[in-house]
Amino acid sequence: MLFDLKPKEKPSDFFNYQEELRLLGSYLKDPQTRLIILRGLRRTGKSSLLRVTLNKSASKYILIDARELATLSRRSFESKLFEKLKSVKGLPAALLDRIESVEAGVRISVKREESLWELLRETKPILAIDEAQMLRGTGVDAFLAAVFDNTDCKIILTGSEVGVLDSFLGKDDPKAPLFGRMYKEIKTHPLAREKSRAFLISGFREAGKRISEEELDAAIGELDGIIGWLTMFGNLALSTKPSTALQRAAKQGALLAYSELRSFLDGRAQAKGRYLALVRILAHKSMRWSELKRAVQIELREEISDSQFTNYLHSLLDYGFIVEKEGIYELPDPLLKKALLEEITG
Ligand code: ADP
Ligand code: MG
Repeated sequence: MLFDLKPKEKPSDFFNYQEELRLLGSYLKDPQTRLIILRGLRRTGKSSLLRVTLNKSASKYILIDARELATLSRRSFESKLFEKLKSVKGLPAALLDRIESVEAGVRISVKREESLWELLRETKPILAIDEAQMLRGTGVDAFLAAVFDNTDCKIILTGSEVGVLDSFLGKDDPKAPLFGRMYKEIKTHPLAREKSRAFLISGFREAGKRISEEELDAAIGELDGIIGWLTMFGNLALSTKPSTALQRAAKQGALLAYSELRSFLDGRAQAKGRYLALVRILAHKSMRWSELKRAVQIELREEISDSQFTNYLHSLLDYGFIVEKEGIYELPDPLLKKALLEEITG
């Protein structure tokens, strides 16, 4: 169902993004491509694209969502990998026996690591890690570099926090484990207006529900082309009338988007006021660097050095809360904008 809230698994539930689907499929078939990066803002369909592609592909794969790990550590990651290796489809019985003997402690624990490598070499699964940037600083980057160098496994990484993902990949840092490994990249984008419309129409048709032209316009006006917000609206509209569903989706989405910003701010207690002033100003109006800096200084009645101001902008860009297009900074998420403008902060 198009309006199902979970990341999509089947092509029949997956709307549009055919080019991205085709590209990802072709990179998976291409023996030269070993590392694939899927990046895009939150809720633009990365996990869905990844899952639909993996399900369609004939290859064995392991999918780990960094958010499902008990702790963000290499150890926890390796345990999860081991656990998932067991359930890889089409694993030869002999291999499965070996895994089980390792797990039962028949082999001593040093062997565990060895077995993991043996298994990866023999099984050659695609290793897909969703929201990989969360594993920055855990040593998983070094593990992946070893997978890249010593096995034939392909690796797919997705990330919403584009700058953090870059630093996980060691972009611009020759000392980083993954530095210099060649990769192919796919970006997910918000839907264009007409596509958002077509998505809603298809979803409502599939659900056997009616929606008027005005209601469609209102939803697209409020939610823009973020497929995750459109899905949330459609899903709520299954059980209530579209106008109420839109109000609820916008409110719930604004709360969710703000809570993500809040987690970011919580880790930056000292500069919190400055970050907030910055995004609030951008919620009102997109601006160039100098205009924005002036506005923030006026708002806070304090001087901020150029370098410090640039650092603030870079952090917000890295985490995907703002974007920059031709020198103009803006908030890409209409519901984060709404949360800031209407103070829907929970
Ligand atoms: P991301 O991983 O970028 O945050 P998800 O794949 O989790 O995005 O998608 C966010 C929401 O949008 C989910 O509810 C998902 O079901 C829906 N969705 C994403 N892409 C599509 C698509 N191509 N067709 C239908 N629904 C989609
Ligand atoms: Mg996702």
